Formats: sequence, C-alpha cells, structure tokens
Amino acid sequence: MLRSRTNIKTPTVTSNVIGSNISHKMETKKLYHWNDIPEWQKDNHYIFSGYVKETLSYLECLRSLTYLHNESVNIYTHLLPGTVFFGGIFWFFEYYMEYFPSTTWQDQFAFSLFSFGAATALTLSSCFHCLKSHSECVATFGNKLDYLGIIILIITSMVSILYYSLIDLPGIRNFFWGLTMAFGAVCSVFSLNDRFRTNKWRPYRALMFVLFGLSGVFPIIAGWWILGGEEVFRRSDLWWVIAEGALYIFGAFLYAARVPERFAPGKFDIWGHSHQIFHVLVVIAACCHGRGLMGAYLYSHHYTIPSMLMA
Ligand SMILES: [Zn+2]
Repeated sequence: MLRSRTNIKTPTVTSNVIGSNISHKMETKKLYHWNDIPEWQKDNHYIFSGYVKETLSYLECLRSLTYLHNESVNIYTHLLPGTVFFGGIFWFFEYYMEYFPSTTWQDQFAFSLFSFGAATALTLSSCFHCLKSHSECVATFGNKLDYLGIIILIITSMVSILYYSLIDLPGIRNFFWGLTMAFGAVCSVFSLNDRFRTNKWRPYRALMFVLFGLSGVFPIIAGWWILGGEEVFRRSDLWWVIAEGALYIFGAFLYAARVPERFAPGKFDIWGHSHQIFHVLVVIAACCHGRGLMGAYLYSHHYTIPSMLMA
C-alpha cells in the first residue's frame, strides 16, 4: 500500500519580492510523491517519493543536477565514470600500457574502442536519467538511447577481448565478431521497437540482454576445444571476464526483480534502490573488463604473438 504524501517541500507563501524569489527557488526544487506524478512517469511503484515532476523544460531538467532527488544517484553513478572512460579513449593506452616491439595501432584501437563503448553507454545513461523528467516523448527516446548504449558497450567489450583471445585464429575470430554484431542487432530491435518496450516485456528485455552477454560463452567453448582450457584462461585473463559477466547478470536480475525496494517499499527512494545498484555494478563490470583486456594484451605480446612469429 502506498503511504501518504511525504518529503514534499511546499513553497513559502510570502508577500514581498525577496520572499517570492525564495518561494520560486523552493518551487523549482519541489519533489513529488508517486500519487502526484503523471501516469507516464510511473515506472517503479516501490519508489514512493523524491520524484521530479514533468518539467517540459530542458533547463529545469539540468537544474535537477543541483539538488537531491530519486534519480540523482542514477545520474552521477554513470556521469562521473563516463567522463573518466572518455579520457581513456585517448590517454589510457599511451600512459598506462607497456609497449612491445610487436605493439601496433590495433592494440591502441582495441583499448580505445572499449573505452569509447563504456564512455558512450555511461554518458547516454546519465543523460537519460537527467532528462527523463522532461516529458513522455523525451523519456521514451532517452530510454531507447540508454539501451542502445548498453548494446554498444557489450559489442565493443566482446570485439576488443576477442581480438586478443583469437589473435592467431582470424577466421574463427571474424565469425564470432559477426555473431556479436548479429546479437547486437536483435537486441537493438528489442530495445528500439515500441512493441517490446512495455512493462509486460520488461523481464524478456532483461533476459535478451543476459543472453547477448552470454553469447560470449560460445567463443570460449570454441577456444577451449581448439586451444585447451588453460590457454583460453590465460589469453582472455578469463577470471576478470567471468567476474564481469557475473556482475552484469546480478545487476540485470536486481533490476528486473526490483530488489531491494520490493521488500521495503518507500525505504530506498533516494538511496539504494535496484536501479542504482545496477548502475554501480555496470561500472565495476566495465572496470573488470578493462582489467581483463590489459591481461589479454600483455599475454598476447609476451607469448602468443612471439610464438606466431617463430612458427
Ligand atoms: Zn539507468
């Protein structure tokens, strides 16, 4: 049962100019209860308060960055790491990676591609969470871009790690690159087509993304068959990639099941609801992938590429 209206800052009624200015400022920071927002804004009925009501103004949406509401954590958990990953596109490889005589532009490209994917996904997500209070039309469009960002992140993650794990098997690598693109295309249709975007399809959408992520298991099986288990683990620094997959799946589960707020409705409105946890897990998972990619790069230049050159 929904609790009654709370946490609402009502504007001060004043009769002078200064007073009315203060009143205006407080008005712009007014937060709303579930019962007070329009139907289109209602998404998670376990979150009762802290809503920024439909603004119909991009400026008002941007102003919501300056005060605490139930999307603030969602915005900043992706905005700040997204900025760091943008820097990573240009500087990470140059400043943090060891150079080998066999290092080529493809190595730099693999790291830049992954950093670009992570930066794009996190930035699109934070923009969506900031602007979703604008209007139904903007929220719907932003949500599509949010999903598209996740697809870009998965594709760039897979393409970059496959480059190293199957570096001496270009035919098989190209096949799995193609498979990744195909899964990405299907997920894009699921995310962008309005028919699949209703609440009824929510668990299936989450499942599609989990399957997309799990499609990374196929090249591991193929590599295991051809190269052996130990070599597969070394080439991909696989424990980091497994940790990454587990974090994505756990995050998607929390998101679909709306845990923990379903067990204590109204208690996680501002801090700690499922979407926020999902955001944090996505960032940690992306960092795990970056760490795995570093290991894969080092192993390939220490062992795989020298043995290819000697063959
Ligand atoms: Zn989000």
